Amino acid sequence: SPSIVWFRDDLRLADHPALRAAMDRDAPVIAMFVLDEESPGIRPLGGAAKWWLHHSLLSLDERLRDKGARLVLRRGPAERVVHEVVAESGAGAVYWNRRYGRPEREIDAALKSSLRDQGLTVESFAGSLLHEPWTVTTGSGTHYSVFTPFWRACRALPAPRAPLPEPRELDGVARPPRSDAPGDWELLPTTPDWAGGLRDTWEPGEPAARRRLRHFLDHDLPAYDAARDAPAAGATSLLSPRLRWGELSPFTVWAEATRVEGSARFLSELGWREFAWHTLYHFPDLATKNLRPEFDAFPWPGLDPRQLDAWQHGETGIPLVDAGMRELWHTGYMHNRVRMVTASFLIKNLLIDWRLGEEWFWDTLVDADGANNAFNWQWVAGSGADAAPYFRVFNPELQAKKFDGDGEYVARWAPDAPTAPIVDLAETRKAALAAYDEVKRAG
Ligand code: FAD
Repeated sequence: SPSIVWFRDDLRLADHPALRAAMDRDAPVIAMFVLDEESPGIRPLGGAAKWWLHHSLLSLDERLRDKGARLVLRRGPAERVVHEVVAESGAGAVYWNRRYGRPEREIDAALKSSLRDQGLTVESFAGSLLHEPWTVTTGSGTHYSVFTPFWRACRALPAPRAPLPEPRELDGVARPPRSDAPGDWELLPTTPDWAGGLRDTWEPGEPAARRRLRHFLDHDLPAYDAARDAPAAGATSLLSPRLRWGELSPFTVWAEATRVEGSARFLSELGWREFAWHTLYHFPDLATKNLRPEFDAFPWPGLDPRQLDAWQHGETGIPLVDAGMRELWHTGYMHNRVRMVTASFLIKNLLIDWRLGEEWFWDTLVDADGANNAFNWQWVAGSGADAAPYFRVFNPELQAKKFDGDGEYVARWAPDAPTAPIVDLAETRKAALAAYDEVKRAG
């Protein structure tokens, strides 16, 4: 009986423990991806994420075909769909790499037990995080809420395993189960087609991801520490969508980067990714609820939709903010420093609830990620784990002077943006601090 490998956030062939397990079982392999937008609690993908997914699935299918298999695409509630494919194919085993959000874990747990009840072999593996969230615990057995001790604890654990090689060839089934065509899912925008900037910027898929990693390690990693904060420098890895979609496993990135001298800072950024997922695992409502409940007392004023709109479209009159929001709209990506500045501006100068910013990023980022996005929004808001202190209000003008001193980034993304700010920075900062006093009183 064939083995099903259920691909999810791991659209690759190298370092894929579930695929490896299927190979070891020595039976024909069915590779499957399920587009699930219906199961309870599952957050539908944003527009930019759908674009990426479409192309990454095409690339994965091509790679599988090269090796002798192919990708079966199915749509619907995952529990039902997996059972259907098992029944259609007579599979005797199902393998997957783990997911860490609550709704996803619930689906996987239910499937594991119902399939095992039917006598199938079902196994799950660690493929998307260096450390399973429940394995990193404090002395008293609880989870971490501060990054530095969390990362120290991770580093004290046995080192991440070596990545697994990709299979040389695959034994596909003679008659694969029915598959949707990628176009059926309408993941790409039609009218208007806003994806031109994404096409110009990215090539989704594992082969391009590996090339990007190689380039970064050879050219940029040595200077990463010094240049990572300058948005015009192009000094960061741009691996975030690759890690989001699992075109590269963190084990691969880790193994390759540790070999380069001076990589500690970069490795600790991977640590922030681990920490965000650790936080989500222990606080599943990270995208909708303040991690620190005293922030529920924050008196968000009534929303002025024109201000939200100006922020979304890079029309705030603050050059660095507008440049960042335009980079995001055009490319589906924004430099980390500018993400912090634009988020701070939304929350602390426009006094708009961080959740609305999180939603916009969710829809527009190609790396929008169940943990990283919400985690970082809460970090900027001050409501999250190991967050920036609430009274730290980034001054976007000073940030521009410091990190984009010659104006290269602003000139690239917002040369013609308005220059009359829609709000007064000093006044709104004062209003934000007064609002945060309410949080302090509630705390
Ligand atoms: P590099 O500097 O090369 O870092 C390497 C990798 O480390 C990244 O690819 C990423 O996986 C991880 N990483 C780096 N910084 C962080 C961080 N602060 N938190 C968690 N992981 C990190 N990152 C996402 O992957 N998805 C998101 O949806 C996301 N939303 C964000 C929202 C806000 C408001 C902010 C301030 C940050 C957000 N980040 C998010 C974190 C960070 O901005 C991006 O990971 C980074 O800019 C990606 O570029 P890079 O791959 O070149 O990063």
